[in-house]
Amino acid sequence: FLALKSLQISGFKSFADSITVHFDQGITGIVGPNGSGKSNLTEALRWVMGEQSAKSLRGGKMEDIIFAGSDSRPPLNRAEVILKFDNHDRQLNIDRDEVEIRRRLFRGGESECLLNNQKVRLKDIVDLFLDSGLGKNSFSIISQGNVEKIFNSKPVDRRFIIEEPAGVASFKIKKQQAQQQ
Ligand code: ATP
Ligand code: MG
Repeated sequence: FLALKSLQISGFKSFADSITVHFDQGITGIVGPNGSGKSNLTEALRWVMGEQSAKSLRGGKMEDIIFAGSDSRPPLNRAEVILKFDNHDRQLNIDRDEVEIRRRLFRGGESECLLNNQKVRLKDIVDLFLDSGLGKNSFSIISQGNVEKIFNSKPVDRRFIIEEPAGVASFKIKKQQAQQQ
């Protein structure tokens, strides 16, 4: 698997100031009260990796991800997210131990993507993960509603939820079809 090193966010949704989350080995938990920005953080992660749907980021248009201001602060004009990966085992097809992707969006719609500080297209970032054989599903972000679904489902259904991303489900479906013939 591909290890995340750090995620730096500024001007993105509720994160006006720059914050950096460092990921250690194993599982990282993010906790905080309602409205503190946990979901915004996972959305920043999806956005920098190429998310193109404003709706799936809970917005009407992409500009809604830029810090819109609060009681004490005026709105900002730019959102930026920087994600660093540990690429020691060359999971990404780039001959570097560390890979950095960066995405910026300005009010007015102008945007920028950088791969190791070089300007690229958004598509190049998306392709980087696809070309590496990691596929778009190699990062699984499970949203709040789905966690509940997993907890509340029957064991058989829960197994299916796991089998699907694991690629087992398609074999099962084929087996069923073969048995019916
Ligand atoms: P919960 O535990 O309820 O799921 P959460 O920690 O996931 O909460 P988020 O949904 O990440 O919280 O954060 C919601 C907050 O982010 C709201 O207060 C909302 O006003 C703020 N927010 C969203 N978009 C922006 C924006 N563009 N500018 C400023 N604040 C924003
Ligand atoms: Mg949330």
